[in-house]
Amino acid sequence: MYELVQVAEHTYYVESPAKVGVVEVAPGEVVLIDSGGDRSAAKKVRAHFDAHGWCLRAIYLTHSHADHTGGCRYLQSVTGCAVYAPGAEQAFTAWTWLEPTYLYGGYPPAELRHKFLVAQSFEVQPLTPEALPEGWETIDLPGHFFHMVGYRTPDDVVFIADCLSSEATLAKYRVSFLYDVTAYLQTLERVAQMQARIFVPAHAAVTGDIAPLARINIEATHQVADDLAALCEQPIGFDDLLARVFTRYDLRMTYEQHALVGSTVRSYLSYLAAEGRIKPVIQDNRWLWVQAAR
Ligand SMILES: [Zn+2]
Repeated sequence: MYELVQVAEHTYYVESPAKVGVVEVAPGEVVLIDSGGDRSAAKKVRAHFDAHGWCLRAIYLTHSHADHTGGCRYLQSVTGCAVYAPGAEQAFTAWTWLEPTYLYGGYPPAELRHKFLVAQSFEVQPLTPEALPEGWETIDLPGHFFHMVGYRTPDDVVFIADCLSSEATLAKYRVSFLYDVTAYLQTLERVAQMQARIFVPAHAAVTGDIAPLARINIEATHQVADDLAALCEQPIGFDDLLARVFTRYDLRMTYEQHALVGSTVRSYLSYLAAEGRIKPVIQDNRWLWVQAAR
């Protein structure tokens, strides 16, 4: 963990739970793509700059999740670097309580206000075309979260953020976090068609051919949707449905998982309703979901 891996002439990543891109944009000057999950991860990333005599100019965030932004405060405090985030991700990064508030759907209890869901705050600016290094492209990847982006570097390396889970992660956790199922599936279809010298997913192995993993993630998404639709054979409330999902997929319930998987299941229910497969009903002062044909 935390070794620096070179993937092209000027492009590297630091192996970590959420990979950090390191790109040399001028002799002796680097920028990062994401920052590591916390201060201790960021310190290990910084040790590579010191070893190479690099100075850190800026951090480009893919999205606002704390496992990608948690190192920014430390790195900004020791280097004064700028940090940029796209669209609504900039708001979620600047106002760190938005994340647990979004997941909980109200003022979050202490169980949801810890460092895995709330990064320390830091100064973050909106990502604009002018803020990008010369020759870089952003790639819109909505679905996993509001305005997630990937980055293509001038040496044709694509950092693809969180739109793909590894096969092992999918087998173990089944429901990977997402916000908008329709947008997520559209993003994956586009990703499956993409070409690059190498792709760096944050949570899966680097690869020159992204299509097979994109297809596996598309299939896994449809499978979760099908399973949820099947669980709505009789009218069922959200917490009962979530309990059945955890039992069926053999997941371990915690407050955090209730919030993360729960939010994702809510998004799937909206998707299934929009597809005409399930519908909401009010019964005995409860909001229930049931298959639309019933
Ligand atoms: Zn994420």
